[in-house]
Amino acid sequence: MLRIVNPATEEVIREVPCDDSDSLQEKYNRLRSGSTAWRQVPLAERILILRRFGEMLEHQTHNLAAILTAEVGKPLQQSRNELGGARQRIQWLTDHATPYLSDEVMNEAPGLKEIIRYEPLGVVCNISAWNYPYLVGTNVFVPALLAGNAVLYKPSEFATLTGLEIERMMHDAGVPHDVFIAATGGKDVGETLLDMPFDGYFFTGSYRTGKYIYERVSRKMVPCQCELGGKDPLYVTDDIADVKAVAAGTADGAFYNNGQSCCAVERIYVHEKVYDQYVDHFVKEVKGYVAGDPMGSVYLGPLTRKDQLVFLEDQVQEAVKRGARLETGGKRVEGKGYFFQPTVLTQVSNDMQVMQEESFGPIIGIMKVKNDEEAVKLMADTKYGLTASVYSKDEERALSILKRMNTGTGYWNCCDRVSAAVPWSGRLQSGIGSTLSHAGLRAFTHPKALHLKSS
Ligand code: NAD
Repeated sequence: MLRIVNPATEEVIREVPCDDSDSLQEKYNRLRSGSTAWRQVPLAERILILRRFGEMLEHQTHNLAAILTAEVGKPLQQSRNELGGARQRIQWLTDHATPYLSDEVMNEAPGLKEIIRYEPLGVVCNISAWNYPYLVGTNVFVPALLAGNAVLYKPSEFATLTGLEIERMMHDAGVPHDVFIAATGGKDVGETLLDMPFDGYFFTGSYRTGKYIYERVSRKMVPCQCELGGKDPLYVTDDIADVKAVAAGTADGAFYNNGQSCCAVERIYVHEKVYDQYVDHFVKEVKGYVAGDPMGSVYLGPLTRKDQLVFLEDQVQEAVKRGARLETGGKRVEGKGYFFQPTVLTQVSNDMQVMQEESFGPIIGIMKVKNDEEAVKLMADTKYGLTASVYSKDEERALSILKRMNTGTGYWNCCDRVSAAVPWSGRLQSGIGSTLSHAGLRAFTHPKALHLKSS
């Protein structure tokens, strides 16, 4: 049995039966037979079904947001925002499925046609994370279904109720019961899925688990994509016009969803000319955040996982011991719930844990730099490669810095954002493969080359 705990109250909300190897095998068998009919369903019909699923997120927002907040602890408004964001992504994916998944005629000559046909992989396995279950789930299962695959979806054990809601809505929308199936459980259930003969694995989660899955799956010679963590840097140059606004916007990039976003700002470098002013505004902004019961109007709720409290306290202690200055926060909030004070550290050095290891919590290190060259060097000093961001009024200056970042995404005057129109991808320890955009629609297909001669 899986005990679903509310991280704000520490109460058990529900107990849900876990899958075992027999039930997983039975689910797999159903998906294998269901996939044959699903790939024959015309793309236009699959699009209509997935659009209906998207509409359900909107019509049922009230109920779905309450469930999400109860099990992961994100403030209710942020749960609603997530559902709205997922709805927009589904809109983009369904609007663009026809051009990107239909046959492409690449060459035509008298008596000859060369075509690319995008065939589904078959039955794919999606092992997912809890921090944005609707968003990271949508990145995978929506294009996978559009492309004609059957999907075994394993939500994180911390977002199980949401995972079951997703399964219910998929079926209500018209996805056959043997084409989309959720599996409940944690690491053990994930392990069992790795032993089964899926035609592709799509994972969202930590580097540690992703690396393990990638290695295990490699023997099968099937596609395996991993969307993993980050230690995303942000650089504030000396030419920004409104330091206060930049401080507020970038603080939001670091603290939204309690910093539990793969693309949350995790390290900040500030040009020495604006450093003092920036830190002053930044700390004031963070001190103004309202924390508390996530069902109410707060900006910060509890963390989702209890273990993370110790991890964050360790990062703070290591930094302070080595000379960092604690501007605000630094420890857990006593009492019920997994609450951690929003924390700002300055006078950090780049080799501290807080500047190297993904924090995934409401904590940020800010460092002063002399010039762009020093900023680039420090930003690039990482094993991750998800996003990097530059704030400047000069586009050319920003782009020349972003060009030197080995990241899947670059931001100019923005941060912590994802758009369905462009690929979402990590490099280095942030993962492999792309979701979203045309690349993400085609990630769930095998391109078949057809050479057609009429005589
Ligand atoms: P996690 O690695 O702990 O777990 C992810 C999933 O893997 C869960 O469903 C879990 O049950 C399963 N799992 C755990 N061990 C397994 C094993 N040995 N075999 C098979 N499955 C196993 O990650 P998490 O805590 O759920 O998510 C947080 C991490 O995800 C952060 O590092 C975050 O940055 C990353 N993330 C990345 C993206 C992205 O798009 N790049 C998006 C969201 C989250």
